[in-house]
Amino acid sequence: MTEIVNFDSLGLAPELLKALTDSGYTTPTPIQAQAIPVALAGGDLMAGAQTGTGKTAAFALPLLQKLLPFANSGASPAKHPVRALILTPTRELAIQVEESVRAYAKHTPLRSLVVYGGVDIRTQTPHLKTGIEVLVATPGRLLDHIEQKTVQLNQVQMLVLDEADRMLDMGFMPDLKRILALLPKQRQNLMFSATFSNDIKKLADDFLTKPQLIEVARSNATNDNVTQKMYSVAQSDKEALLIQLLKAPDAKQVIIFTKTKITANRLSRSLEREGLVADAIHGDKTQQERIKALDAFKAGTITALVATDVAARGLDISELPMVINYEIPSAPEDYVHRIGRTGRAGASGIAISFVSPEEEKYMVEIEKLIKREITKEIIVIEKPVARARTSSTSSTTSSKANRHKSSSSTSHQEASATKRMPTKKKFNDPWFDKPYEAVVAQQHASARSPSIRKAPVAALLGGLIPTK
Ligand code: AMP
Repeated sequence: MTEIVNFDSLGLAPELLKALTDSGYTTPTPIQAQAIPVALAGGDLMAGAQTGTGKTAAFALPLLQKLLPFANSGASPAKHPVRALILTPTRELAIQVEESVRAYAKHTPLRSLVVYGGVDIRTQTPHLKTGIEVLVATPGRLLDHIEQKTVQLNQVQMLVLDEADRMLDMGFMPDLKRILALLPKQRQNLMFSATFSNDIKKLADDFLTKPQLIEVARSNATNDNVTQKMYSVAQSDKEALLIQLLKAPDAKQVIIFTKTKITANRLSRSLEREGLVADAIHGDKTQQERIKALDAFKAGTITALVATDVAARGLDISELPMVINYEIPSAPEDYVHRIGRTGRAGASGIAISFVSPEEEKYMVEIEKLIKREITKEIIVIEKPVARARTSSTSSTTSSKANRHKSSSSTSHQEASATKRMPTKKKFNDPWFDKPYEAVVAQQHASARSPSIRKAPVAALLGGLIPTK
C-alpha cells in the first residue's frame, strides 16, 4: 500500500480536514489510509477492521466528502433528503458513530441524526422530518420508521453496514434484507466487519458489487497495544480479586465484562458496597439508564462499568487503560471484541482475564483464535468476600486475613483454609502507576455544541442542528 503520511494527501475537503484537526487527528490510521481512497473513488468496499482501528472515520470521511456537493443551508426539509444510511447493530454504536459523523461534519451544513429502539419513536419523528443527509440507525427502529412512513430512503446513495458480523450474530439478516430492498439500486456500499466468516462473505456477495477487499489486521487478531494476561482464580474468589485490583492505589477506570446480566447487576452492587463508584450496562437496562451510565463513565465519574457482551461492541471510550474479563466468554470472538475496548487508536491498554478452572477450556479456544499465548500471572488475593466458598483447589490463589472491615468471621476461616502462596507476590501492574485522564469527556464536550449537550432529547437523538 502506498505511504500516506497525512490526511491532506488523501484528497479530503478543507472542511473535513479542519474537523480532523479539531479532533486532534494528525495521521490516518491504516484502515483510513486504505479505505478512504477506495471509498472516494466510488467503489464498493468490504473492510475487515476491528473496533478501535479508526474504522468510523474510514467510512464517515469519504461519505461526507461525497455528500458535500449536496450540502446546503436551506430550511426546507426537501433540501435535506437522507442521502447516506449507516446501519449498526447496537444503539450504543449508533450513538457513537453519529457523534463521530457530527464531529467530522461540523464545518459543513450536512446534517446527521441517529435513531434507535428503546426510546419513544415519537421523539425521533420531528427530527427526521426536519431533513437530514446522514442517518445512523439500528435496523429494527429504522424499519419502524419506514412502516410509519416517517423516513424516506429513495435518495440514499451511500450505505454503510458497520460491524456487519455482529449484525448477523444478532439475527438482523431479515431486517437488513428488508431495508436493503427499499434502497435505490444505484448506490455505493461500504461494509465493515471485525471478522470474515463465511456468512459475512455471503452477505458481501449478496449486497456488494465487485467490492474491494481491505483488511488491516488479521481477522480475529487482537490489538498489539493491549497487554493481555490472565489470573487463574476460583469463581468464588473473583469478586475479592476484582475489589483488590480496583482498590489498588492508582486504579482509575475499568470495564468489567460478565457473561450474564444478573452477574453484571450483582457485581456492580457489590462494588458499590465496597465504596467503589460502579454501574452496570446491559440489554435489560433502559436506554436512558445505559446512556446515563456510559456518559458518567466517559466523564470519569464512574470508576467501574460492568458490562455484558451486548454492550461490548461499539463502546468507544478513548484511552481506556484496562478491561477485565470477570467471566470468560464461551465464544472466543467475544473476547476479541471485549478487549478491543482498550488500547484504541494507538493507546496502550491492559486486558486481564479471571480464569476459573471451569473456564480454562474457553481460554484454549481464545488463544487458538488470536494465535497467541496469554501470559499467566500469579496474584495473591488479599481480601476474601463473605460468601466465598473454599471449594477452590487453585494453587495459584490464596487469601490472607482481611484488612477491610466487611468480611465475616466465616470468611476468615475460609481464608485460612485456602492455600497460601509460599511468597506473597504483590500485585504490581505498571498501569496502576500511570496517571490517567478521562480524555473522552473533553473530546466529546468539544465535539458537541453546548446547546445540544444541554438538551436531553437532542443528546439522545444526536445532532439535529448542524454546528457551523
Ligand atoms: P473507531 O475504530 O472508529 O471506533 O475509532 C477508535 C478511536 O480512535 C476513536 O476514539 C476515534 O476518535 C479515534 N481515532 C480515529 N481515527 C483517528 C486518527 N486518525 N488519529 C487519532 N485517533 C483516531
